Amino acid sequence: MTRLSEHLRQATPVVAERGEGVHLYGTDGRRYLDFTAGIGVTSTGHCHPRVVAAAQEQVATLIHGQYTTVLHRPLQRLVEKLGSVLPEGLDSLFFANSGSEAVEAAMRLARQATGRPNIVVAHGGFHGRTVAAASLTTSGTKIRTGFGPLMAGVAITPFPNAYHYGWDEETATRFALREFDHLLQTVSDPDDTAAILVEPVLGEGGYVPANTAFLQGLRERADRHGILLVLDEVQTGVGRTGRFWGHDHFGVRPDILITAKGLASGFPLSGIAAPEALMHKARPGSQGGTYGGNAVACAAAVATLEVVEEEGLVANAAAMGARLRSGLEDVAAKTEAIGDVRGLGLMLASEFTTPDGEPDAATAVRAQQAAADEGLLLLLCGPWGNVVRMIPALVVDEGQIDDGLRAWAAAV
Ligand code: PLP
Repeated sequence: MTRLSEHLRQATPVVAERGEGVHLYGTDGRRYLDFTAGIGVTSTGHCHPRVVAAAQEQVATLIHGQYTTVLHRPLQRLVEKLGSVLPEGLDSLFFANSGSEAVEAAMRLARQATGRPNIVVAHGGFHGRTVAAASLTTSGTKIRTGFGPLMAGVAITPFPNAYHYGWDEETATRFALREFDHLLQTVSDPDDTAAILVEPVLGEGGYVPANTAFLQGLRERADRHGILLVLDEVQTGVGRTGRFWGHDHFGVRPDILITAKGLASGFPLSGIAAPEALMHKARPGSQGGTYGGNAVACAAAVATLEVVEEEGLVANAAAMGARLRSGLEDVAAKTEAIGDVRGLGLMLASEFTTPDGEPDAATAVRAQQAAADEGLLLLLCGPWGNVVRMIPALVVDEGQIDDGLRAWAAAV
């Protein structure tokens, strides 16, 4: 008998039969409140009727048309639609299927465009599991260990992780920028440094938001040295943080922006955006992939962006995020087990710690399992696996937030 590899351990015993909005229905007959959204993917909720209709229509019209041979309407419409939400100047797009592939495409572009070999990444960042993306990932050794040697030319600079350092935000930021300057003096000469790659909110690394001074400090140093600032918005994009892009909170413009996850509500699609003058520097044929920009995925993405706009989902993420955060803080105030509540918009987390402040993964796992028993699906993250995160679909409403909070309070 064949079976799914046991190394893909599920956090819950749930077998999902169907999904609708923020709910999943299990083969056990139970309804679950899904605050994982397929790891931040089903932005418009499970099976939003508009996304379903667009995909169904596209399947019956054209499933696949490869962009090195032909263009197709959904791809053209998606390029046009993204044009209305991308930062000014990022006018050229390239599509792939997963976040990891888009990260690789961005790094390949950065190296080719600058002729420099090194990439600096922020400590605790997660960028994917392909060998190059894993080489850029420092959110946990499990992503990196055992299949090296990894890609050369990666240097690691601190992220202003104030809670983790036990400092205030300003001190953590000053330290992080000073260490970046130090790195450019000692390890990765600016003339050898192609890009600095960072997430606006550390995702898998524990849901730690960056801040304006840090990202603007990186922008200023990147400009000074001709280094490209690459923002990985795979998890933070498309309204997740209560603004369309995570970096909108911080007033910085990236040179290359990476998007995926919420872009197509569950269809595999990722992309990078950059100024055409930069994108043009990639050698012809060096970027691409058989399925990139698949017609059905693009049609689903267009419908997703329309729903996000027409249903005001970015504003909803901000409002529901504020409600969820306040409820999470109330729960945290009643227990010694939660040391920190943090995040942005609908990308929120509770960090479990022992009374002396050490990471407490065992209690986090128990809380996650107790929540599943209460009908609430949650995910863990962070280097120690002691951070419970909540990333419901952007369509979540007040009643569903309150239901989730009741289940969470009971579980904790
Ligand atoms: N970048 C970030 C910030 C992510 O959160 C992820 C996945 O969680 C990736 C890249 C990799 O995306 P994928 O799993 O689609 O390859």
